[in-house]
Amino acid sequence: MIRLAAPLIGDEECKAVEAVLRSGQLVHGQECDQFEKELADYLGAEDVLVVSSGTAALHLSLVALGIGPGDAVLVPDFTFPATINVVELVGAKPILVDVDPGTYNVTPEGLRNVILNWNGTETIKGIIPVHEFGCPVDMSGVMSLAKEKGLYVIEDAACALGAEHKGKKAGTYGDVGCFSFHPRKALTTGEGGAIVVQNESLTEKIKQLRNHGISYDKHIQFVLPGFNYRMTNFQAALGRVQLGKYSGWLKERQVIKDFYLHNLNDIDILTPEIDSGHSWQTFMLVLPERYNRDQVIIELRDKNIETNIGAYAIHSLNYYKNKYAKEVLVHTDNVSEMLYKHGIVLPIYQGLKLLETEYIVRSLREIIDR
Ligand SMILES: *Cc1c(COP(=O)(O)O)cnc(C)c1O
Repeated sequence: MIRLAAPLIGDEECKAVEAVLRSGQLVHGQECDQFEKELADYLGAEDVLVVSSGTAALHLSLVALGIGPGDAVLVPDFTFPATINVVELVGAKPILVDVDPGTYNVTPEGLRNVILNWNGTETIKGIIPVHEFGCPVDMSGVMSLAKEKGLYVIEDAACALGAEHKGKKAGTYGDVGCFSFHPRKALTTGEGGAIVVQNESLTEKIKQLRNHGISYDKHIQFVLPGFNYRMTNFQAALGRVQLGKYSGWLKERQVIKDFYLHNLNDIDILTPEIDSGHSWQTFMLVLPERYNRDQVIIELRDKNIETNIGAYAIHSLNYYKNKYAKEVLVHTDNVSEMLYKHGIVLPIYQGLKLLETEYIVRSLREIIDR
């Protein structure tokens, strides 16, 4: 079976993890501190904090920014549900914003429209732009909108380590930027995540919230109710080795993406419309309505190729559908639903062979031609 995504773990990774295991220093330690520095270097950021997952990164950010009951947060309607779940979990209200069919992302214009039309009782406090599949959001536009309206920006860059907008890395524009190192992402620590923080007092707050509310001011002090959202030292050791190889991996992903685009562009499917800055964590095509997407996935599986749907139209998920009915939706074209129903994700990962990509393209064409 050709997998949809597969982590590339070599001897070097195994040795690094083994060394930490043998050291007995398993929870947050030196490897985590080093990983934070190296991530900061890679991203061109001041402060990076490693945490236990991308969801933990988002949750900590909202708590640290004081977003809660009575507040509302603008989120894309097309994403992985974790982005929206954390807003619910802090007691704030998610406002679902439709996405652009070429990038699968929210746009500054779309966000502005929703803000102008908002008549709920909650106060809009922030925006969570998601760099969907590694495609950079127009962050310069989002940041000037946020500045104009006095809103926090929490970037969900879970899929977007290495993505860039105007020469600056995704995750370094907002008040905070959140990353995931789940094995489905391009760099993995098993589970894991990181937060880029732009402001020192916020960094301190997130450190405390990450670690039981502890502040080391001469002695241990419990200064607030915190979580345990720490990354382990052996996860960080794994991440450090992966980060050393990461730039090469992004290039491999570009080559695979170019092959797909080049060999599928004559048939009637929608491909992403972006030429630079994308980290290609995921490659999603959109099939025209006359094809049965779920059937195409099954037929590809019969040919030993694993594919999948891309992300979810949040408004159509049970919990959100039942809780908010249509009230939070300020929809125009319902692009998110179209992407959710007709999007298909093809295998892309470092280590995927050219012969395999040829087989994938040939198989997809065969199925579609029928
Ligand atoms: C993967 C992902 C998350 C969640 O990250 P975890 O590390 O699995 O908690 C959040 N948002 C987006 C857009 C993601 O793709």
